[in-house]
Amino acid sequence: MAQTKIVIVGAGFGGLAAAKALKNTSAEITLIDRTNHHLFQPLLYQVATAVLTPSQIATPIRSILRSQKNVTVILGEVTGVDNDKKCVFVTDADRENVPIAYDYLILATGATHSYFGHNEFEAFAPGLKSLADAEAARNKILQAFELAEAEDNPALHRDLLTFILVGAGPTGVEMAGALAVLVRTSLKSEFRRIDPASARIVLVDMAPRVLGPFSEELSKAAKSRLEKLGVEVRLGHSVEHIDADGIVVAGERIASKTVIWTAGVAPSPAGKWLNAETDRAGRVRIQKDLTVPGHAEIFVVGDTASLDQNGKPLPGVAQVAMQQGRYAAKVIHSRVTGKRPPDSFSYFDKGSMAVVGKGFAVLQSGKVQMSGLGAWFTWAAVHLQFLATSSLRLGVFLQWAWTYVTGQRGDRLIVNHHGSEVAKPVPDSAVKPTFAGR
Ligand SMILES: Cc1cc2nc3c(=O)[nH]c(=O)nc-3n(C[C@H](O)[C@H](O)[C@H](O)COP(=O)(O)OP(=O)(O)OC[C@H]3O[C@@H](n4cnc5c(N)ncnc54)[C@H](O)[C@@H]3O)c2cc1C
Repeated sequence: MAQTKIVIVGAGFGGLAAAKALKNTSAEITLIDRTNHHLFQPLLYQVATAVLTPSQIATPIRSILRSQKNVTVILGEVTGVDNDKKCVFVTDADRENVPIAYDYLILATGATHSYFGHNEFEAFAPGLKSLADAEAARNKILQAFELAEAEDNPALHRDLLTFILVGAGPTGVEMAGALAVLVRTSLKSEFRRIDPASARIVLVDMAPRVLGPFSEELSKAAKSRLEKLGVEVRLGHSVEHIDADGIVVAGERIASKTVIWTAGVAPSPAGKWLNAETDRAGRVRIQKDLTVPGHAEIFVVGDTASLDQNGKPLPGVAQVAMQQGRYAAKVIHSRVTGKRPPDSFSYFDKGSMAVVGKGFAVLQSGKVQMSGLGAWFTWAAVHLQFLATSSLRLGVFLQWAWTYVTGQRGDRLIVNHHGSEVAKPVPDSAVKPTFAGR
């Protein structure tokens, strides 16, 4: 009898969990991803703020699955699905739209940025979703200090050293806190003509409070911590305009050369590929066994799926993706082996956490609410535990300990030497800036 073919698209939290959970299933598994690495997105902001190196939060997918002989990893971009012929189309560096057949398909293709209908903002306010995004943000932030140091006209320092984060959810809050620590500790004594600690960090959101999914109390604790760190928190107004010179919010222009988008997410196009029903955000509506209605062989998991539990949609977080990936694998395993399928999927919420600067986090798990150093230790332990390999766990632990004690960061390199990411502001007056020492 021919081997069952399982295709998994996406080796993020959901896809990788599914592949691992199919370890003992006698099937041919093909895992396709457009990058060669599994990325730990919750620590992307630490790459963007130079705490960690890219290789400390990402691992080659093939290396993670090297001993799982039933999985073949393919580097390629899935461009569509033919539900009738049961194949996905893959494009790689050499070939276009090559069909790969499946008996079971798991789509775990995650999400991308959403600019809430203002796609024109993207050119000036890049998001933080991939390793490339995080490196680009790091380059831009570090370069802003270099440009300011080289700039003779002090009137221009303010714009260069103003950093704006649009979106005060966990990513925006964590990024703002980490940036504040970077400018007030690591960079403090390294420049001669500018004072990095004078950098202005502005966190903007249309919501009335930061960290919307957390309780009001924790949200207040996070806001006051941010303010202690010197972050300006502007809430209750959406950004009206973003261009190369900054943003306009509540009718006020805030000049800045570094704006980072940490607001909305949009799902991958899986719904379009399948021609399936989606929710308002575009996520594929799935059933309690995580399959697409009318297609018992197609599972959609993680950020690109929409499933309600207790009348509320499940959140787009790593835990949901991992639990769904494992569940989809269980259903497939039961079908391949002819065993009884598991009961309907039910998400077990272990809680949420967010870090605000050095040694401070907020934690909410059931009725437990904590903020401060204890929550930060819990955050650190949980994040270390979920990194993909032991070497990452050890490396990140040592880096955090080093950074905590010395204030020094892991990766302060600007790698885009060939082109400046930060456009120099044009002076209002006719004063011509000159480069110091030339
Ligand atoms: C900056 C940031 C911080 C976050 N912090 C937290 C946090 O602290 N806690 C938490 O629980 N969650 C956090 N999240 C959310 C969490 O990372 C996501 O919910 C989780 O990654 C979703 O898992 P997934 O498997 O659905 O998608 P992903 O993990 O995004 O994986 C999708 C995979 O699919 C691949 N892919 C996409 N399209 C294609 C295609 N067409 N062809 C081939 N491959 C494709 C991608 O390369 C990727 O590897 C954060 C997210 C971000 C961006």
